[in-house]
Amino acid sequence: MIWILRRGTTADLRLSAGPRRREGTVCVPETVESLDDVLPAARDLSDLLADHVTDAAERAGTPVSCTKGCGACCRQLVPLLPVEARHLSAVVDDLPEHRRAVVRGRARAVVEALDGAGLLASVRQVGELDSRERRELGASYFELGLSCPFLEDEACSIHADRPLKCRDYLVINDPMHCREPLGGGVVGVALRGHSWAALRELASVFGADEKRVVPLVLAVAEAESWHPAPKAADATAPGQDVLARLLAATVEADRTEHVDEQSGANNHQ
Ligand code: SF4
Repeated sequence: MIWILRRGTTADLRLSAGPRRREGTVCVPETVESLDDVLPAARDLSDLLADHVTDAAERAGTPVSCTKGCGACCRQLVPLLPVEARHLSAVVDDLPEHRRAVVRGRARAVVEALDGAGLLASVRQVGELDSRERRELGASYFELGLSCPFLEDEACSIHADRPLKCRDYLVINDPMHCREPLGGGVVGVALRGHSWAALRELASVFGADEKRVVPLVLAVAEAESWHPAPKAADATAPGQDVLARLLAATVEADRTEHVDEQSGANNHQ
């Protein structure tokens, strides 16, 4: 059961899996000027949903097997939205100089390897591929065994800032299967909502360009080209509307109770 109480630009969430309960609050500014203002709420939502499904999996006797030190999945092609690319660019900029050089160097090496394998053009266009083409590209990418530039000792070195897709990816299988994901042994856990897709849906408010798909490795290799989002006055939106849309688009409607404190509306969906 997921219970949501929204008060303007703030929402309290309670997620129950049997006796286990997770609680959290997500909020956005009064006036949203770009998706950058929404990303923290999307990440908080994603983490709550991931914790909730982790509780549910454990209760069902099939605990999530993802753990620090297993970075097998960190050789996959990770899709970002431009808002996430900008955030990661800022994260890389904030690294100490030698770390920044190492991370960018790794990313450029991955880009060179992709170029050498004839995959770079497809990777750049991943957002325009159909689902079959994306699957095939994902398999070819993984087969190259290219580590994410943020992977250190098989652990994510930017855990708190990791992309939404990384937050959502949870499995219950033996980790050995994650090293051979095409072998059919990977069993993912279905979250009760996906904030990446919800954020992409919201992106149309701020311009079609915000819906582009940016591969993580390109965002890091070309981090200098990612700048803060333009703050166009005509692209602002009331925070309470944005939060309502984000929640509705993120959290699965079934078994979710929404309460809007301002309107008094209470709808079981
Ligand atoms: S950002 Fe972190 S979690 Fe995501 S692929 Fe890279 S190392 Fe793995």
